[in-house]
Amino acid sequence: MPPKDVEAGEHKTSIAVWDLVSPLVIGRTAKVKVGAKCAAGCQLTDHGVEIHDASGKTIARAVLGGTPWPGTSGLYWTDVEFPAPAEAGTHTFSLTSEHGGAHSEFSFIAVKPPDHSVTIQVHDKTTKETIADVEIRLGVYRSITDARGLATVDVPKGSYALTVWKLGYELFSTELSVADTATIEVEIAVEPEPAQPYWM
Ligand SMILES: [Zn+2]
Repeated sequence: MPPKDVEAGEHKTSIAVWDLVSPLVIGRTAKVKVGAKCAAGCQLTDHGVEIHDASGKTIARAVLGGTPWPGTSGLYWTDVEFPAPAEAGTHTFSLTSEHGGAHSEFSFIAVKPPDHSVTIQVHDKTTKETIADVEIRLGVYRSITDARGLATVDVPKGSYALTVWKLGYELFSTELSVADTATIEVEIAVEPEPAQPYWM
């Protein structure tokens, strides 16, 4: 058994999360990677890490894996599944490691389950041709257009800021009310060339 409750002073440990898919969907299970590293260089395999909700209640526990994260010395990690909150909004949960008594926090957005599919097709304002690799944001949801200039975003009913942008084009933004599955056509304009200096 690994030692528990090691004195924090001797074994200052840091703990962090990464690869959290955002936004979380309320009431569903979320996945994240949790890693911890001890300043004294301890092997942290099988040491416990915990996730706590905003009230401090422990909602998930896992043990760190056998090998450090590639390219790091001593960052032991594990996948942890935890229940997303029941309420939509921004939440801050906390993390602790048994080893070294590390504590840290992470924030995320939780949303209602998507129930409508919005398809956005992007055209060039002048040529009317479809444009690929355009970044689409609909509220907190993101997508990117495919070779046919199409991107689909699944969202709950509601009102969203739609922004459409690609390098070399002017930013397009509008307010979009989503009440049903819909297809939207957007035209974006090539960014004007900067004015030529007079001596050219
Ligand atoms: Zn240690």
